[in-house]
Amino acid sequence: MEAVLILLFLGLRQLESATAPAHWPALYPTCNGTRQSPIDIKTKEAVRNNDLGKFLFLMYDERQFLTTIKHTAMTVKVTLNTRMQLRAGGLNADYVAAQFHLHWGKSIGSGGSEHTIDGKQADMELHIVHRQKGLSLTNVFARPDGLAVLGFHIMIEHGISEDPAWKNLTKIIKHLKDDGDYQHLNDTVSLMDLIRSVNLTKYYRYNGSLTTPECNQVVVWTVFEEPIRLNASVVETFFEDLYVNRTSGIKLRENFRPTQHNRNQVYASRGATKAMDTGTGNNGSGKARGSPLLLLALASLYLHSS
Ligand SMILES: [Zn+2]
Repeated sequence: MEAVLILLFLGLRQLESATAPAHWPALYPTCNGTRQSPIDIKTKEAVRNNDLGKFLFLMYDERQFLTTIKHTAMTVKVTLNTRMQLRAGGLNADYVAAQFHLHWGKSIGSGGSEHTIDGKQADMELHIVHRQKGLSLTNVFARPDGLAVLGFHIMIEHGISEDPAWKNLTKIIKHLKDDGDYQHLNDTVSLMDLIRSVNLTKYYRYNGSLTTPECNQVVVWTVFEEPIRLNASVVETFFEDLYVNRTSGIKLRENFRPTQHNRNQVYASRGATKAMDTGTGNNGSGKARGSPLLLLALASLYLHSS
């Protein structure tokens, strides 16, 4: 079992790579679950939670901790040194970095992100995956908060100057020709280099799943409000220069899962620009506020028992 989980975790997912997301539930029942990802984040329904404050990003500036980037047939993935850690930000535990990878579309303007915000799909999405500190992999996959993933939208901005970190990363990605190929990063970029243009206090939070089989419902999701804005040439690298494998000649494109239904509440961070601010007089903490349905049920119970 552990071996299976490790394979899954490392992203060696050859089997499902040939299968479109619509067919996943037949093969992996959890993909039909009630807490699936990605979702459309409706900012007007996101409840403000003042406990969702600043994150602590430990060692995110260390370029030496990003050693290689690998072609996995479904995406490109960088394995991360576990000395990089994620804390606070309303998380109930500390998390250690595991890997990051990306999702993209098929052309400029086609859309390629997994999450959407108010129905808007971005050009790409970056996922930085962390697992809860101190848990075995078996336990990581047995808990609703076993993994914490940071999701960043990437948007093309015409006329913007080239971001050196992303430019250097894509120069290396051009050399990944086949499934299993990898390249050394040689201190090219740090995690913070990739995300520092974004206001990291503005985000949305919900509990969901992996967006690839077996769709395990073990992820605390953080989706940032602001996109990483990049020159079109950087984004083009992903859908123009990468192939599913060299011999097939088929380009690696549209590796995103469409949005899913998920019954869990979405919360907005203290710093988020757009959220449902109910003005009920409390401090806006999601923990202190009952859902309208729950309050109705409690009121009904009270009326019937009196
Ligand atoms: Zn992903």
